[in-house]
Amino acid sequence: MLELKPLPYAYDALEPHIDEETMKVHHDKHHQAYLNKFKTAWETLPELKDLNAEQVLWRLEELKEKIDDKTWTALKNHGGGYVHHNIFWEIMSPNGDREPVGELQEKIKELGNFTKFKEDFTNLALGQFGSGWAWLVLDEQKNLRTYALPNQDSPLSFKHQILLGVDVWEHAYYLKYQNRRAEYLESWWQVVDFSAVEKRYQVALAKTK
Ligand code: MN
Repeated sequence: MLELKPLPYAYDALEPHIDEETMKVHHDKHHQAYLNKFKTAWETLPELKDLNAEQVLWRLEELKEKIDDKTWTALKNHGGGYVHHNIFWEIMSPNGDREPVGELQEKIKELGNFTKFKEDFTNLALGQFGSGWAWLVLDEQKNLRTYALPNQDSPLSFKHQILLGVDVWEHAYYLKYQNRRAEYLESWWQVVDFSAVEKRYQVALAKTK
């Protein structure tokens, strides 16, 4: 059954950009809680036992007619929270490539140069009213897209594969940055690991073939 994976680095590894206390609470409390509540909902649905969490989100719309609203909402919110945070830990690292590498380096030029991409992505994250995420995804036509979604609504439910995401729930930054989301985002770019994003891009490409 699903277990929360430990962070792939120490809690203080992303200091000073993301502080140790935030990482502890974010991973051990918030991420754990999403997982627990996702499991509770999922376990009531034996028909979904052969799917993984990503597949549940991928099929969320078709599941809507088959399961009750409360359970469906739990899958959406807590399944989203569980899957999205796994990705979030993965695409950050203390010593990574801070600019796109590999094939994504070329591909991302479709969205403008890297400076423009960063600016646009930051603006999406800043413009998300309330809780949510900004996303870089690969759509079914293998085009890159960026957008923000509220809460834990998942790009996977739009059949988009996630390459990069930034969490703009206050729990991701409030301890250190309080209401200063822009400052948090500026720091977050200092810990994004584009070699991990490139790996995700390669996996996504293979899946859409
Ligand atoms: Mn979060």
